[in-house]
Amino acid sequence: MITTMSPDQLWSAALGELELAVSKANYTTWLKDTFILRVQSGAVVVGVPNTFTKTWLENKYHPSIVKALRRIADEDIQTVSYQVASRKAQSLRVAPPEPEPYVPKPEATPEVAPRPVSTPVRTPSKGETVTITVNAAQKDTLEAVGLNPVYTFENFVVGKKNELAHAACLAAAERPGFAYNPLFIYGGVGLGKTHLMQAVGQTALKRDPRIKVLYVTCETFTNEFIKMVGAGRADEFKGKYRSVDILMVDDIQFLAGKEGTQEAFFHTFNHLYQHNKQILLTSDRHPRAIPTLEHRLVSRFEGGMIVDVSLPDLETRIAILTQKCEQKNYQITPELAQFLASNIQNNIRELEGTLNRVIAYHQLNNIQPTIETVKPLLSSFAQTPRGQAVTARKIVETVADFFEVEMPDLVGNSRKKELVVPRQIAMFLMREEIHASYPNIGQELGGRDHTTAMHACQKIGKLREEDEKTESDLSMIRQRLYN
Ligand code: ADP
Ligand code: MG
Repeated sequence: MITTMSPDQLWSAALGELELAVSKANYTTWLKDTFILRVQSGAVVVGVPNTFTKTWLENKYHPSIVKALRRIADEDIQTVSYQVASRKAQSLRVAPPEPEPYVPKPEATPEVAPRPVSTPVRTPSKGETVTITVNAAQKDTLEAVGLNPVYTFENFVVGKKNELAHAACLAAAERPGFAYNPLFIYGGVGLGKTHLMQAVGQTALKRDPRIKVLYVTCETFTNEFIKMVGAGRADEFKGKYRSVDILMVDDIQFLAGKEGTQEAFFHTFNHLYQHNKQILLTSDRHPRAIPTLEHRLVSRFEGGMIVDVSLPDLETRIAILTQKCEQKNYQITPELAQFLASNIQNNIRELEGTLNRVIAYHQLNNIQPTIETVKPLLSSFAQTPRGQAVTARKIVETVADFFEVEMPDLVGNSRKKELVVPRQIAMFLMREEIHASYPNIGQELGGRDHTTAMHACQKIGKLREEDEKTESDLSMIRQRLYN
């Protein structure tokens, strides 16, 4: 019976069970800061620190939570729900007020839509095509702040490799400046970083058209800084970047080595941050892996939320392909979708590019695409099937390049940590990608013993399971290998 236990006792017992059931990282991220807000006739309301956690618990851990609670309090638990609240508001009031959750849904065509620009989206049910119509004025408004109307949440397919980034972006769009600030998304080329970031801006604008959103590439930011400040228009620069509610800077890795711009960015960042303005950043790598990025910037970024995207699995790639076909009003068979998605493994941009070529070619020749007719169009991509063009040497070079270490050091004798891990990763990739033998691997890496190679492969194999950074490093290196 719950009455014999206080809500706090009940929850700490449940947390005790959950702690055993999930990984330490997940426990710390999602469960540690939760508490019971109230228990009322079998309805348990769990207090959570933010919407992101709420979404995550609802989608991922709900069954485990219910199970744990029921085990402790028997059948007394009827329902479990989650609510954003601060701990001190426990049983008092919920704070801060949460706006309606944003649920992506296809929009109805506006009544007056001059000069419509059609942007078809994924069909919610089979066979039915829904078209979002952005009118020209809206499109101009979006473009003026750097947004592409196509990059919406509706058009984004969520899979395992991007679900965390997607959830974080939804949370940021719901409550700009309060959910995660800054929100830093990193991962290889063509994996949807820009798409997600822009979706945040568009959604926030849709929710509140008065909001000031600005999307720039790091390059634009740098150029404007140099141009305006050099021309004595520093105030104009400050005015532009400090007056927004959401600032998005894409491909922030290009700040590397630009001291003046880093300084300007640092001050812009602090100003916005202090005023609870949302900052979104993307990069092709983790902030700590950006060379010559000032420590104070790295620590600012780490103060927010850092999420990665990596290459979607086959199933998600098929889903993306199918969605892009629907957008383009083009039909391909499921077999063909499967064929294309399994042959294009580098990134989504490439998948889309190939689809465009397939469509163009078949429409031009007025024929239906089949696996046979599509094959020749794939040649430039399919020429590098896994394990052919990639050589041991290419792996060593790519790894050295990725970790920014010199080749001779990588194959040399130094035991420095900055070299040991990349060296082991190179060995691991030789095994995985080209099925090299252990003696061979040892040979390639400066004449090492085969047991060293074996040990390295085991170690990285284990590390990738425990450490997300290793997994994402591996996937980025693979991308570079096959690109
Ligand atoms: P990045 O910024 O990571 O290099 P982009 O955001 O430019 O990648 O994405 C490249 C292309 O792939 C875009 O056209 C984007 O719409 C598409 N894309 C990437 N991921 C997805 C996804 N999960 N669902 C739908 N389209 C995607
Ligand atoms: Mg991008």
